[in-house]
Amino acid sequence: MPDAELAALRKILTLERQKGCRDTAVIGGLDRFLARWSERLSEQPPIPVPRRGYAALSAEQRSRWLDEAMTLIGGDDGAPAAPASRRSAPPRQSSATPAPPATRRSAASRKRAAGGESQERPRNKEDELSLTSSVEALPRVTPAIATRLKKLGVSTVRDMLYLFPRRHNDYGAMCSVADLQIDSEHTVAVSVWEARETMLGGRMRATEAVVGDDTGNLRVVWFNQPFLARQFKPGTRLALSGKVTLFRDAPTMQSPEYEPLQGDENMIHTGGLVPVYPLTQGLTPRNLRRLVRTALDGWGHLLVDPLPDAMRQRAGLLPLSQAVRQAHYPHDAESQAEARRRLAFDELFMMQLFVFSRRREWRESGGAPPLGRDSGVLDALFSRLPFSLTAAQTRSLDEVLSDMEKERPMSRLLQGDVGSGKTVVALAALLSAVANDRQGAFMAPTEILAQQHFRTVADLLGASGESDGGAGDAVLTFRLPPLPRPVSLGLLLGSQPRRQKRDVQAMMAQGALDVVVGTHALLQQEAEMPRLGLAVVDEQHRFGVMQRASLRSKGETPHLLVMSATPIPRSLALTLYGDLDLSILDELPPGRRPVRTRSVPPERRLDAYEFVRRQVALGRQAFVVCPLIEESDAMQTRAATTEFHRLSTEALPDLTLGLLHGRMPLREKEDVMGRFQRGELDVLVSTPVVEVGIDNRNASVILIDGADRFGLAQLHQFRGRVGRGEHASYCMLMSDYPSAEAKERLEVLERVADGFAVAEEDLRFRGPGDYFGTRQSGLPDLRMARLSDQDLLSLARQEAAALLRADPSLARPEHRALAELLSGYAAGSSRGEIS
Ligand code: ADP
Ligand code: MG
Repeated sequence: MPDAELAALRKILTLERQKGCRDTAVIGGLDRFLARWSERLSEQPPIPVPRRGYAALSAEQRSRWLDEAMTLIGGDDGAPAAPASRRSAPPRQSSATPAPPATRRSAASRKRAAGGESQERPRNKEDELSLTSSVEALPRVTPAIATRLKKLGVSTVRDMLYLFPRRHNDYGAMCSVADLQIDSEHTVAVSVWEARETMLGGRMRATEAVVGDDTGNLRVVWFNQPFLARQFKPGTRLALSGKVTLFRDAPTMQSPEYEPLQGDENMIHTGGLVPVYPLTQGLTPRNLRRLVRTALDGWGHLLVDPLPDAMRQRAGLLPLSQAVRQAHYPHDAESQAEARRRLAFDELFMMQLFVFSRRREWRESGGAPPLGRDSGVLDALFSRLPFSLTAAQTRSLDEVLSDMEKERPMSRLLQGDVGSGKTVVALAALLSAVANDRQGAFMAPTEILAQQHFRTVADLLGASGESDGGAGDAVLTFRLPPLPRPVSLGLLLGSQPRRQKRDVQAMMAQGALDVVVGTHALLQQEAEMPRLGLAVVDEQHRFGVMQRASLRSKGETPHLLVMSATPIPRSLALTLYGDLDLSILDELPPGRRPVRTRSVPPERRLDAYEFVRRQVALGRQAFVVCPLIEESDAMQTRAATTEFHRLSTEALPDLTLGLLHGRMPLREKEDVMGRFQRGELDVLVSTPVVEVGIDNRNASVILIDGADRFGLAQLHQFRGRVGRGEHASYCMLMSDYPSAEAKERLEVLERVADGFAVAEEDLRFRGPGDYFGTRQSGLPDLRMARLSDQDLLSLARQEAAALLRADPSLARPEHRALAELLSGYAAGSSRGEIS
């Protein structure tokens, strides 16, 4: 068998599977490809060709055939597929792997004889599997699938077990079509009478089917899945689960879960409490459910319970592996709640252990320079502001300055809704450090924001460039009268020209810069500041121990002020960030009007652009935020670029548009930002990542595309980009075909203007397991715990404190598993992943 022929086949079959077994890998269909392919061979083809053709197979059969074929030709997924759709035969690690079929062995040896270029894989790879193995070691997980799983935070087998359902659909017992009730969830067993492909809304391909049982008929629509029309031949038996709605007076199920019915096969997709996992592009709910099930059946029993038995019993918690299993497949609501309680306890408990030990470490670290209050300097600053501070700003600043007077390093979180005016508080604190002849660092999460802070400070204080030894416009100086000498302000960014960066770093190290604004570049070793007195970290809860440690110099610890717009309730903040003191800006500057927020249905898209045009005609400016694409930075950039061209040429050709994305060279970013701030651009089109924190008082409208893909807290942040000046402002949330749940979520924003209230609602909507949501909002990775788990929280707190009292460094053998988890937690935190 020529290698090239095998490789070609392997490529096509892999592609076919990646594309979801829809017979779309080759033009003309797989059957024709296979026929041509085997004609070219001088020997018997190494794979059995489906008798009635691939096209005639059901999705299930196609997937099974592909598995088999890939196994035979040594594809990228060498192990036999686990029979995941059947509960009866879990691939236990200890028990037998399904015996390889005879043909497989001969094909494998044939391949070896031919010196097939693909890597040899251990035949029973399950045998070597542990919980820390990569998911790629699981059956059916190709590299492509592994990449997608990674987007869900799943890289290891353990991660897979911990990919908890966002919720369960309770389909309960089967019912007959005649008994279906409108607006309720049901499962029915039906036969397909007719299924065909249709177009809906003029642009979306769908499958529309009529199904029924002895008692009546039902219309079913699967959006975006036109291929099902071909799979569901008349007479196909299906179990369908989903909500029944009325459509043109006919009961209809929209995109229900489906499972072909074959004999007494147990249903994992449609029967009883069905887990619904967070989705990512390229993984269907069915795929994901099957993958998790395989991991659970085969490796769930390997989970080791880290909690000491006595504690577990005292707290009345399920053993870990049972809890994990029950979290995915509970018998009923009660067993689900039990599982959740145990797993939520684990999260809260680890968090408490972490917070307690971090606090101890911070307290034991070196002292900080006490920085006295200099009212002369502060007054000079206030006199230059075009406004006076709000009461909340004054109070918070006072708390900050009192902390800075002490020798114990400040460790404070300044929390305030978007637009509440955190920046001036930070600036006042930084200048206070300068007045004490100390340096200040101001760190922002993105280059664009760092740049903006740099500009804001420069403008407020009338800073100007001076000849400064080559650092160019990255160094400015200004005078603040009570201070005898000019104050110097620097900018340090990763993508600065190398010479400039080096010059700024050199000046920092000589102590020649008083305040340096920058990104993570500030944490690099080359960016040492010998007289650092205060570090401000903007828009970031996730500032880890390691990062803090890197700010320390010469045995001294600088004061630390962390700022965040993620509004979380005070009680929760105290627990989550128990090592930080808290100041809250619970008041917006006067005169702010709420941003009027509306959802825009797809058919009104043009009206939305028209609205932008009218605002521009009034002299205002607009933001357009492109949809979130999980795939990659590069994809995101491409999508934004495409959208920018589409808007410039089709939707808004008469306006002046600018494009901003993270991958642009710094110069271009600066240029676009500058032009937008100066009013030379009408509309700023950007990727979501760079959108946070831009401050343009003339912008009155923000149009968020793909709004259903963002968490509420994040949408609220976006919306905070407008309504910062005196103009009435608007936020338009656009999404094509949002789910009912997404619509409901978006309605919250239409109704609620206050960030704290939005956050509460957000957490209510976001069931446990919504990993993305929490990650985006800056909350720690709580999948199971909820804000309302106050009792569990105090229990976890109590147990964590007791444990650390008894064994402060977790040195006892029975605490080894916990110690390991804790160091993993801390490592994650310092990478900015947790906490
Ligand atoms: P955030 O808390 O979101 O970082 P900013 O610090 O960017 O908010 O402030 C938002 C806007 O409000 C800025 O334009 C700032 O100049 C302005 N601002 C801040 N404090 C006040 C105040 N006390 N009165 C009026 N405007 C203020
Ligand atoms: Mg800000």
